[in-house]
Amino acid sequence: MKIAVSTCLLGENCKYDGGNNYSEKVHRFIEGHEVIAVCPEVAGGLPTPRVPAEIVKGIVTMKDGKNVDAEFRRGAQLETKKIIDNHVDLCILQSRSPSCGVKQIYDGTFTGCKISGQGVFAQMLCEKGIKVIDVEDLP
Ligand code: SF4
Repeated sequence: MKIAVSTCLLGENCKYDGGNNYSEKVHRFIEGHEVIAVCPEVAGGLPTPRVPAEIVKGIVTMKDGKNVDAEFRRGAQLETKKIIDNHVDLCILQSRSPSCGVKQIYDGTFTGCKISGQGVFAQMLCEKGIKVIDVEDLP
């Protein structure tokens, strides 16, 4: 099986704060499979570390008010194309990210409140019919 994984889950320091979300559970799950790392925010040209962003009224916006919607969506498009071109079977994505969140995101107030919803990358993948799973739901 070909599996795309949020790069930060593989231990790469591409998270907004310069860290990662390494997951032992992911590491075990992907063993023996072909793995493709995807990070739409880095692909979109954003630096690491970077100011955190949330989706504010449909627009991806940094905490300092900067509109980064174009960068997020460009990165999501590039990584979606990579996934389609590689005939990926399953994507395992990091929870609650404004890019990768599959079932929940932060509410756009930068107060830590969560709402049902998807990041722009997860949403794009779902619209293309690509199977995505939140890392929290990985068996
Ligand atoms: S965009 Fe996705 S892969 Fe990249 S750091 Fe954020 S959650 Fe991880």
